[in-house]
Amino acid sequence: MSGPRRIRIIGGGLTGVLAAFEAHRLGWRDITLQERFEALGGVARPKLIHGREMRDGCVYFGGETDPIVQTLSAHGARFETFDNRFGSMSADFAGRRVFTWDFGGPAVDCPAYRVKAPADDSLAARLAAYPPEIAATLEDYVRWHLGADPALVHGDAVIPMAINRVFPAAADLTALAQAKVTDPWTDELYAIPRALSGRTANLVASLPEGGFAKLFDGLHAALVKLGVKVELNALVPPRQLLAETTADETIVWAANPTPLFKPMGLATPALVKKSFFTYVFEVEAFDGPCPVYVQNFTAQGATFRAYLYESGGAKLVVAECVREADLKTLPGELRTLLSGFGAATLGPMIHADAQPRWIYHSLEAIAGLKSLRAELAARFGDRFIPGAWEPYAKAAKLAEVNAALARARDLAAPAVAKAG
Ligand SMILES: Cc1cc2nc3c(=O)[nH]c(=O)nc-3n(C[C@H](O)[C@H](O)[C@H](O)COP(=O)(O)OP(=O)(O)OC[C@H]3O[C@@H](n4cnc5c(N)ncnc54)[C@H](O)[C@@H]3O)c2cc1C
Repeated sequence: MSGPRRIRIIGGGLTGVLAAFEAHRLGWRDITLQERFEALGGVARPKLIHGREMRDGCVYFGGETDPIVQTLSAHGARFETFDNRFGSMSADFAGRRVFTWDFGGPAVDCPAYRVKAPADDSLAARLAAYPPEIAATLEDYVRWHLGADPALVHGDAVIPMAINRVFPAAADLTALAQAKVTDPWTDELYAIPRALSGRTANLVASLPEGGFAKLFDGLHAALVKLGVKVELNALVPPRQLLAETTADETIVWAANPTPLFKPMGLATPALVKKSFFTYVFEVEAFDGPCPVYVQNFTAQGATFRAYLYESGGAKLVVAECVREADLKTLPGELRTLLSGFGAATLGPMIHADAQPRWIYHSLEAIAGLKSLRAELAARFGDRFIPGAWEPYAKAAKLAEVNAALARARDLAAPAVAKAG
């Protein structure tokens, strides 16, 4: 038998867990999943306090047709669907608040919506594709949110920052709707909130029944049942891994790639260094929908998103903040943000945290990852699978890793018995 018969997956977040299920589906039987911490889940696994999840933000799944939901459900996970309710708060040019519903991007009080295609891949060029009034509003927001120069950040950062589409609130919406159909860049850069565009069907999202910790513990058990060796508290040093891996092993690096640069002889690129602060409050009363989230595009205060959810029988709200918040003014900020959906009475703050998020890439990081991929491919071919490092969305990560696993499976044949 020839080809890589073993597969080793580094990183027990959602990407690594899904890769393990897919490797099994494709026919691998000698599968090891290594996670440096004491449980699976990565960034999607919140801390538990008195049975309640202290979430850092809203990680949602899609409805029943979401491929991730389908895969995880096939392995025993249970999801609860709900009407996905979300909105945003922006400021108009007089500083008045503007709320949107069923649209999580910024509303800019501007009639113009012309575009020019971005000149390059930078966030600065992406913003410059808008008319100057909109570009200036977005740039203020980016500097407040990220504290980074948009010229150094990759344009894809618009997705985690939720500014991938702008609602030009003073525009002729009929003409805009028409332009969105005929011009791809207009469609890419602008949105019309659903209710205003005549679309009324509910948007369905889902969350794991009983929370994320229960989800990942159940998935851990399901992997073990399939024969996957799940190793926890197993920090894999990249240098050793790259030196010791043999031709009969496929590797999936479903973890932060930064430590791979040096052992591969490459300079580590400059990253967008930014920590976000999160504060969880009990919610004593809220007369709006749950779960719900509201983005803040006013570039005022500390909170860029308020996410209200239910966990352990209680309603909680997390403030995701661009900086350390003033705890005296934070409850007021949260009430204002949520006021577009309902009146909130907040209880005590029960958790605070600060974490960097590896979801905003510098231009240098994207270029560096390209070189890293090329070096890894030159040295290991298809048997080294990058864990979809660049995309933010889970669905895009899944598609990329699954395609690479399929290529590696072909390389592994006949050592890996082809499934299906
Ligand atoms: C607050 C927040 C909200 C988000 N919301 C969404 C959303 O709604 N929709 C969406 O599609 N995406 C969302 N994302 C993006 C999110 O990154 C992905 O959805 C997904 O959870 C990422 O999973 P991952 O496995 O790729 O990465 P991670 O969850 O980061 O997992 C990597 C794992 O590798 C482990 N590890 C690292 N180094 C090593 C090592 N050397 N050896 C062993 N183990 C190692 C880590 O401990 C970790 O468990 C959100 C992200 C954040 C932070």
